[in-house]
Amino acid sequence: MLVHGTIHPQQPELARSPTREVSTLTLVRPDDWHLHVRDDDALDVVVPHSAACFGRALIMPNLRPPITTTVQALAYRERILAKVPPGLAFEPLMSLYLTDNTPPDEIDLAKASGVVIAAKLYPAGATTHAEFGVSAVDLIHPVLERMEKLGLVLCVHGESIAPDVDIFDRERVFVEKTLSPLVRHFPGLKIVFEHITTAEAAQFVRVSGANVAATVTAHHLFYNRNALFAGGVRPHFYCLPVLKRESHRQALLQAVCSGNPRFFLGTDSAPHTARTKETACGCAGCYTAPLALGLYAEAFEAEGALDRLEAFASLNGAAFYGLPPNEDKITLRRESWKVPASYDYCGDKLIPLRAGGAVAWKLAGDV
Ligand SMILES: [Zn+2]
Repeated sequence: MLVHGTIHPQQPELARSPTREVSTLTLVRPDDWHLHVRDDDALDVVVPHSAACFGRALIMPNLRPPITTTVQALAYRERILAKVPPGLAFEPLMSLYLTDNTPPDEIDLAKASGVVIAAKLYPAGATTHAEFGVSAVDLIHPVLERMEKLGLVLCVHGESIAPDVDIFDRERVFVEKTLSPLVRHFPGLKIVFEHITTAEAAQFVRVSGANVAATVTAHHLFYNRNALFAGGVRPHFYCLPVLKRESHRQALLQAVCSGNPRFFLGTDSAPHTARTKETACGCAGCYTAPLALGLYAEAFEAEGALDRLEAFASLNGAAFYGLPPNEDKITLRRESWKVPASYDYCGDKLIPLRAGGAVAWKLAGDV
């Protein structure tokens, strides 16, 4: 990673790099290991945003109906590719949505495809379009055995769905009741604990073996649950897993800035229309694709760890999935820019996170 700037000579050398005044950052082009792009008209708006900065993205399969077969995933991939702007080389990598009835042979087809690189476990009802998900992990043991054997990665939405578990405790309870036993039962299964939000999840990954990793979103690194209620209910900060208290945000920052290669970038950028967010029962999901990279840079910079951003954003995820890093580079420039108030989207508006606010880092070449 190239870091251009000046170092204040008086500063003690032992300090991490908060004293650097860095003006540009050149990174191997990052990948987004957790992305929602929806389908049809939505693709026109959101695919170009991700394609502008990321080389590859792991596309989540929670359409309605969900992407449960390799044939569906390959067709969906073509629809996404058709919306990549000319001149950009964005590669969608695909995942399957596991259900109680997924046949193990489907895993063979996924593996053979070369582009379906993961299958996603949504506990039934845990989040957007999760009603088709897995009602009990025991039911999919034969599928997990096949994944373990073939080396297909299991992506997990790690929240308990027991109705008596407090929403702020769902991830911790999932670690205790579901994920720990699963990791013990399938010691060779590669697992990505998606969009972790708690100190307990970060610690679980830290003490697990090389087969367990986690993605961390920009919004969980940057905001705590106060953001949901600042001056009134803020629906655009509502996502699942829900934002947590500050001590958990600090634990996530520590995890991603530690240099541990089993933490990597996954935005969980999730577009919804303004109408379905700003309503009596709004959808979960934050739309961050256009600003995520800038947010991550802000978060790492605040920790004096900009030198760790490239591994987190561009190297660790690819290595975990057994893929080479992207060959080209991008440059982020320290230049404040204003996030649009909204984008036109499916006959309505799409309101990004931090709409109308400023982001400190800008992709060079962006206008
Ligand atoms: Zn997601």
